[in-house]
Formats: sequence, structure tokens, C-alpha cells
Amino acid sequence: MRISDRGRDVAPDYAELVAGRIAGVRDRIEAARLRGGRGQDVTLVAVTKTHGPEAVLAAFRAGVADVGENKVQEAEAKMDVVALPVRWHLIGHLQRNKAKSATRFDLVHSVDSERLAQALSAAAESIGRTQEVLVQVNVSGESSKSGVSPNEIPLLADRLHAYSSLRVLGVMTMAPFDATETELRTVFAGARAAQERLRASGHASTLLSMGMSGDYELAIEEGATHVRLGTVLFGDRGA
Ligand SMILES: *Cc1c(COP(=O)(O)O)cnc(C)c1O
Repeated sequence: MRISDRGRDVAPDYAELVAGRIAGVRDRIEAARLRGGRGQDVTLVAVTKTHGPEAVLAAFRAGVADVGENKVQEAEAKMDVVALPVRWHLIGHLQRNKAKSATRFDLVHSVDSERLAQALSAAAESIGRTQEVLVQVNVSGESSKSGVSPNEIPLLADRLHAYSSLRVLGVMTMAPFDATETELRTVFAGARAAQERLRASGHASTLLSMGMSGDYELAIEEGATHVRLGTVLFGDRGA
């Protein structure tokens, strides 16, 4: 069945629950934005991974226009049933052999190598499209996380100019789960420095995707323009 805004409805209780959480989160986002004093706009990306299409519909009804997924296949299944004018964000690790499918996303947050950039640019070019991307930076150096290290940014920044079907709009990062506030601020500031470095080298680079359910307020204080929120909106994924 195809789900559209006028099609099968989302359960009223669920819609109300999600709308209430979104309203609360929006207040917190605005408060953090004012505390940070950086004057940026903040986009709430609702992370619907592991949740069904009704999560997308509930968020959309509550005014959210940006949806994040970490796996290409799971996202494609949802795109195929949700006929809503939302912007799709790919926030998870991307393999080069999925570059073609990744061009269905409005913004790919997870470019973590020149080879992936090359594959994405080629895929975008083959369909006459310009693909908007962020460079994922691994500021903390945790081996479990993907992303380029901050000291690789200057070279990568130069190299990325070769891929004319990509637009490098900024940087994405993930902070460690068990970090102290000081450590979190250091990670977020490191991502901000990488974003500024990309801009200094001539990329559009104005976006900063950082902050998840546990740390989004600090991320906003440190300059996040996109926060990626799953658990605080849709509850536990039961992992
Ligand atoms: C799952 C995920 C999120 C959302 O995490 P929550 O803690 O549930 O808000 C954000 N970013 C990435 C890359 C993710 O994989």
C-alpha cells in the first residue's frame, strides 16, 4: 500500500505522542541556540531508522521536513511507500557499491574517503545531478567510528575540488557516547574547525551536522546546524 499524506492515516495516539515530543525538542533546540549565541539556523532531522513509515508520517504531520536513515536499503523501502515532500538524509556509513542508490538522498552526511567521493560524483554525473554531501570527520579518533581524521581535512579539501558533481556543504561528526561535557565540546569544536577549513579551501561548507538524542543541546551551543534525533522522538530502538 502506498502511504501518502492523504492516504492511510497514522494512529492518532502515536501522532500525538510524536508531536508532543517534537514540540518539547523544538523548545530545547531554541533555548540551546540562544545560549550558544552563534545565530545559526538549526534543522531537526528526524532519524526514523528501525521505525516504520508511520514514524515519517507522524514527524511530517508535526512539521518536520527532514528525515534521516542510516542504511540505504531500509531508506529506499520507506521512500517507496511514503509519498511526502520530505528531504532524505543518509547519515550512516556508505559503501561505494551503493553510491548509485545514495543519489536518491538529498544530502549524504557520510563521505569519509576520496574514493567514496569519486564514486558518488560519478553516480550523480551519470544521472545529470549534483549530489550534496557532508564530509564525516572522526574527531575523537575512536576506531569504531568512520570518518576522516581532522588532520586529513586539508588534503581532502583540495582533492574534492576534482569531483564536479559533488557539492561539499559541510561536515558531520558523531561524538563518543560516554564523553564528559568538556570532551563533547572539544569534539564539536573540532568538527566546526573542519567545516571552516573546507570553506577556506573554497567549498560551500556552511553546514554542521552534529548532535544526537544525548548531546544535541551541547552540539547546538557549539554551532550545529543539523541535529539528528531518533530516540527522543520515537523512543527506544530496543537494541
Ligand atoms: C541512529 C543515529 C542517530 C540518532 O541517534 P539517537 O541517539 O537515537 O538520537 C544520529 N546519527 C547517526 C549517524 C545515527 O546512526
